[in-house]
Amino acid sequence: MFKAIWLEQSAGRTEATLKEIDTAALPEGDTLVRVRWSSLNYKDGLAITGKSPVVRKFPMVPGIDFAGEVESCTSGAWRPGDQVVLTGWGHGEASFGGLAQMARVDGGKLVRLPSGLDARAAMSIGTAGFTAMLCVMALEAHGVTPDEGEVLVTGAGGGVGGFAVALLASAGFKVAAVTGRTSEGDRLRQLGASEILQRDQFSQPGRPLAKERWAGVVDSVGSHTLANACAATRYGGVVTACGLAQGMDFPASVAPFILRGITLAGIDSVSYPAAKRAAVWKRLARGLAPAVIGAMAEAVPLERAIPAADDLLAGKVSGRLVVDVG
Ligand code: NDP
Repeated sequence: MFKAIWLEQSAGRTEATLKEIDTAALPEGDTLVRVRWSSLNYKDGLAITGKSPVVRKFPMVPGIDFAGEVESCTSGAWRPGDQVVLTGWGHGEASFGGLAQMARVDGGKLVRLPSGLDARAAMSIGTAGFTAMLCVMALEAHGVTPDEGEVLVTGAGGGVGGFAVALLASAGFKVAAVTGRTSEGDRLRQLGASEILQRDQFSQPGRPLAKERWAGVVDSVGSHTLANACAATRYGGVVTACGLAQGMDFPASVAPFILRGITLAGIDSVSYPAAKRAAVWKRLARGLAPAVIGAMAEAVPLERAIPAADDLLAGKVSGRLVVDVG
């Protein structure tokens, strides 16, 4: 028996409890992992509170990512004791996730922890840091370099935004961070932001084109914020869109695309190809100092994960919550 956060639905409402379950309750898979650390992402907050239908079947163990050690593997791909991390692939939504002390998964979806990262550090980074790294790599792939100009990061007080600030700053970019919380300013400066901008400058409807400013953008917010970021992106600049914290809509015009040749690059971490993931984790291990990783995440025990999900959605969490599962 082991502990797990357990989601059930009754009369259309999600009920979350901390439960003891048996390994036999785990889904099929060739690899059994003893989970040491997981984390609470925006999506986990939605799943646990039931505020949005992200869970596709019940009962469910939430938790879109986890890190721990392999207990057994029938395919031979992993050995007992191997240190691994998993993010995305629908875990915590369509199949059991990481907010449990054991997980049984397809071993092909696991990534070996790169040297320099332990399970806690990997989950402090988690899906949020992984996604931020994908955004930075997309900017680079489209030719954005530090001497092209400033990069804007929206939702900077959150997990994706905070890691984007840190990764961009460590790569030499000048970063402007957008936040709705004045209390986040000092932390974001410590992560490497050179300017803090107020969220309401971006979140209201704006003009199709604004003064050109950004060489690149990492947007985890969507809606008017994304539209305004595009409108102020410099000729040939690149906007990466990975989130919808403000909304799923995109109330923009084509003007920045057809008059300034900007590129909008979509970022998905969930189904990102397995073969390319280890390289992303290696870059995260290289690009983030331990002090930065530590400053990004606060630890909570598994027993606190349910109330913490409410705090996360209420915007009370600074950076990320890492969950001590083991
Ligand atoms: P967090 O909750 O940690 O951060 C979201 C941040 O967005 C908040 O901290 C807040 O920043 C800002 N925000 C919240 N509400 C609003 C609003 N109404 N208007 C403007 N800004 C707002 O979430 P994550 O960083 O984990 O995820 C951010 C987004 O990215 C989510 O939508 C998530 O679903 C998505 N995501 C997508 C992934 C992908 O693969 N594409 C992977 C991971 C996440 P502040 O207080 O500083 O203003």
